[in-house]
Amino acid sequence: MTASESPTPIRVGVIGAAGRMGSQTCCAVEEASDLDLVARIGDGDDLQAVLDARAQVIVDFTVPDASLGTVLWAIEHGIHAVVGTTGWTDEKLDQVRAALEQSPTVGVLIAPNFAIGAVLTMRFAEIAARYYESAEIIEMHHPRKLDAPSGTAAHTAAAIARGRAEAGLGAVPDATASDPHGARGAVIDGIHVHAVRQQGLVAHEVVQFGGAGEQLQLRHDSFDRASFMPGVLLGVREVASRPGLTVGLDQYMDLG
Ligand code: NAP
Repeated sequence: MTASESPTPIRVGVIGAAGRMGSQTCCAVEEASDLDLVARIGDGDDLQAVLDARAQVIVDFTVPDASLGTVLWAIEHGIHAVVGTTGWTDEKLDQVRAALEQSPTVGVLIAPNFAIGAVLTMRFAEIAARYYESAEIIEMHHPRKLDAPSGTAAHTAAAIARGRAEAGLGAVPDATASDPHGARGAVIDGIHVHAVRQQGLVAHEVVQFGGAGEQLQLRHDSFDRASFMPGVLLGVREVASRPGLTVGLDQYMDLG
C-alpha cells in the first residue's frame, strides 16, 4: 500500500441503532473515515440485513435479554462483536466462550463501560485499594436504567477486592448490626455499592477510600453519551485482531 492509499474501511453494523447509545454510535461510525456504517438494526429487524451488508463487526447496544442471542448469532456467522449492553452473567459469558471454541478467529469484546475515564477509574481503584482499610462505591445514573448496580460498579468492586486481596487486607470495617431497610447498599465482593437513580444524570461513579485521618475520592462523570464513543471506536478497530472473548475495554488499553 502506498502512502496515498487509505486502508479499506471496516464494515460496521449497529444493533439497537435507534436507541440512545445505538444512535450515537451510528453517528460516530459515520464520522470516522476508516469505518463504514453498513447496517442499522432495530427491535424486530432481521439480522440477515447484517449478512447482506457484509458487516465485519457489529456493535450491540440493546437490552440484556436480546444481547446474548445476537452475539451467538454473530459468532456463528464469523462476525466480530463489540458489546456495550450490560447485564452479563457468568453463565452467559460461558455460553459465548463455548460458541467461540467453534469459531476461534472471531473476536468478542464485552465492555461494561466504554468511557476511557471510567476504565481508568477502575484501574486506579484497584491500585488505591491496597492502601486503604475502607472502600465503598456510589454509582449514579438516569432513572431509565434497567439494571442496578451498574456493570461498572460491579467491576470496580471486583477490582477493589483484587487490590485488597493482594495487600492481604481483610473485611472492610463495619459495625452495622441492624439494617432493616438495606441502607448499607448491596455488597459485591465484600464492597458496599450504592445505586442512585436520578433525573438529569447520565452515568457517574464515586469510589471512596478511607484510612486513618484521610479520605481519597475517585470520581468519574459521563455528562454526555459522546464520552463513550472513543472507547466504542477503539473496540471496533481492535476487535478483529483480538480473537476470543475479552471482557473490559482495559484489556485493549496499555495500562501497564
Ligand atoms: P435504549 O435507548 O433503550 O436503546 C436500546 C435499543 O435497543 C432500543 O432502540 C430498542 O428498541 C433496541 N432493541 C431492543 N431489543 C432489540 C433487539 N432484539 N434487536 C435490536 N434492537 C433491539 O438503551 P441505551 O441507553 O441505548 O442502552 C442500551 C444498553 O447499553 C443498556 O444495556 C445500557 O445499560 C448499556 N450502556 C452501556 C454503556 C457502556 O459504556 N458499555 C453505556 C451506556 C449504556 P425498542 O425501544 O424499539 O425496543
